[in-house]
Amino acid sequence: MKVCKFGGTSLASAEQIKKVCDIVTSDSERRLVVVSAPGKEFENDIKVTDLLINLAETFLKTQNCEKELDAVVSRYRRIAEGLNLGNEIVKDIENNLRTRIMLGYDHEEKFIDRMKAAGEDNSARLVAKYLKSIGYNAQYINPKDAGLFLSDEYGNARVLPQSFKNLSKLRDMDGILIFPGFFGYSLSGEVVTFSRGGSDITGSILAAAVEADVYENFTDVNSVFAANPKLIENPKAIPVLTYREMRELSYAGFSVLHEETLAPVFKKGIPVNIRNTNNPEAAGTMIVTTREIKNGPVSGIAGSGGFITINIHKYMMN
Ligand code: ASP
Repeated sequence: MKVCKFGGTSLASAEQIKKVCDIVTSDSERRLVVVSAPGKEFENDIKVTDLLINLAETFLKTQNCEKELDAVVSRYRRIAEGLNLGNEIVKDIENNLRTRIMLGYDHEEKFIDRMKAAGEDNSARLVAKYLKSIGYNAQYINPKDAGLFLSDEYGNARVLPQSFKNLSKLRDMDGILIFPGFFGYSLSGEVVTFSRGGSDITGSILAAAVEADVYENFTDVNSVFAANPKLIENPKAIPVLTYREMRELSYAGFSVLHEETLAPVFKKGIPVNIRNTNNPEAAGTMIVTTREIKNGPVSGIAGSGGFITINIHKYMMN
């Protein structure tokens, strides 16, 4: 069984979602699929998660967010139209958002997390509906039903250990399972999210729970590069990295994976394959336990603004 996760740019439009579904259905082992919220479709576009944060903050300030709500629903409407899904799913998404607003809150972070999570949640419902409409046995999985429980640290949750056993049962379910990334539930039943970019973490937790053969993380680059391609012309592609190298590079500024992604898969030794939704033929980058050093000692160069590490050495001190 393969667990695949698709990032925001892979969900940004109907065209992109069709590519996602082609990739999923081209391999019968791809049965557990984690999706992000629709990301940027073009350079100055706004991610659905950012639209939702704006909606939540506007509501908290003014108790009114009709314009902001419309901006979110319009994004989904455009996607649903491009997938020929009809208006019912758009109405469902609007109702889903209105219910979240109406549920009220006793503190602001709780409300913001509930709204933020709507991006992934509705994205997963939409993808499952589309797969069914083209004849596949697919279903949306609710993280609460599946038992993904998180600490109640709003906006920065951690997975609770019992989740792994609960989620392992997904392995025995039929068909293609579409699981929303980025959020789970606290033990008291509230929606809680990971930090931004956290759908990567959901994928890793699921891959560890079902003991997947590989965790395929689909994004919009052909591989991890040895330096930032926006700063360095033609950096070398990295075919294989160790968990340790990747974790270190993510921590210091590589934005390919969320820096907390690797812990669950690392513990089980499940390889991670970073791949490109727009070029699924490319082999991508494999992240594994050990690798042969063929290219010299440097695996990559990362940089991050406002970041410094200080190493202190003292004779006779460990
Ligand atoms: N949609 C969330 C974000 O923009 C989570 C994710 O995409 O991984 O941060």
